[in-house]
Amino acid sequence: MPKYEIKSWRKPNDQKPQFGVINPFIPTTKIFDDLTIISETADACFLLETTEGIILIDAMEPEQRFYDAIIKGIHDIGYEPQDVKIILLTHGHGDHYGCMGALKKATGAKLYMGRMEEDLAINHAIGHFPPMDATADVYIEDGDDVVLGDTRVHCIMTPGHTQGCFSFIIPVTDEGRPHKLGLWGGTGLLPGVNIFQYLESLEKYNKICAEAGVDGAISNHPPCDDGVLRAQMCRQIGDGIPNPYVWTTEIFLNYNKRFENMCKRMLKIAPDGIVPERREFKPKDARDKK
Ligand SMILES: [Zn+2]
Repeated sequence: MPKYEIKSWRKPNDQKPQFGVINPFIPTTKIFDDLTIISETADACFLLETTEGIILIDAMEPEQRFYDAIIKGIHDIGYEPQDVKIILLTHGHGDHYGCMGALKKATGAKLYMGRMEEDLAINHAIGHFPPMDATADVYIEDGDDVVLGDTRVHCIMTPGHTQGCFSFIIPVTDEGRPHKLGLWGGTGLLPGVNIFQYLESLEKYNKICAEAGVDGAISNHPPCDDGVLRAQMCRQIGDGIPNPYVWTTEIFLNYNKRFENMCKRMLKIAPDGIVPERREFKPKDARDKK
């Protein structure tokens, strides 16, 4: 019999994005040779540099300060707004479509998103967000590659968080070495969400990402992946220290279990698989009791 038991030091970490408050922005941060995060502590978007200009992935919230942060971020890495050629959206919620009308005007970029998500963003905006003030130029479909220059972003339709939500596989390089990042497009379980559908999409996403050799993840909600902390590390990283965004496929799949676990906890209070209205939530019951 062993004398001492060695336990995992990891604690469940259910940090949630704080909405409805003014979250501080972090400095524009390069996390790969060709990928930059623009972020405050609840929402993030990404600038993906290609040989033909920039793909902006998601666009944070529809307020002036988010618009200003995105324009500043583009300037911070040495580009002009007109160098953004494509704006690619995960889904049609206001914390991701941002000031789309103003952004399209400033950049001249084409808006790529799912058809169902465009309808959601324009006709069924949720929360305190105004409807999206722009229309899509290109509808992305399941399995599409969005191509700009030598860069191909792979699109995977992953209904769950919203009915037409998209996740992406994003190719990047770190000191010239190629990596692939998974971006799980919709994270939270909002009222009405079908948890079984969410889990089915997660399984599909895991399979496609594993086959593609995805070896890292980014999130449009930094609390989900310690994005603020990892960006800070990237700003201060020492020579030869591994990039905190570079994992292995095994670690990537392990990270995704946090979304699976979130669903399992919710199923305990919503065994029919449909997320109840918020007033019915009993957060303490939703946690695994250890
Ligand atoms: Zn959302």
